[in-house]
Amino acid sequence: MKLLPSALVCQQAVELMSDYLDGSLSRRARRRLEAHLVACDACTAYLEQLRVTIAASGVVTADDLAPEVLQTLSELFERFRDES
Ligand SMILES: [Zn+2]
Repeated sequence: MKLLPSALVCQQAVELMSDYLDGSLSRRARRRLEAHLVACDACTAYLEQLRVTIAASGVVTADDLAPEVLQTLSELFERFRDES
């Protein structure tokens, strides 16, 4: 399988998401993330989860993501993998 130079793996996409949501991501990185989201249902669902978490708490840190959101994430990825 050939990967596009701009292709993100899910882990990289997840690492960009909090910056994406608070607007601190560079335009270039944001485009790469959005391109990944178009192609990846798991990350799209995770971003939505993250958005809800931030809306509820006002802030999000790496600590806020653990453990239930990370649990949700791994479940999403398992489901996604099973479907592919
Ligand atoms: Zn992904």
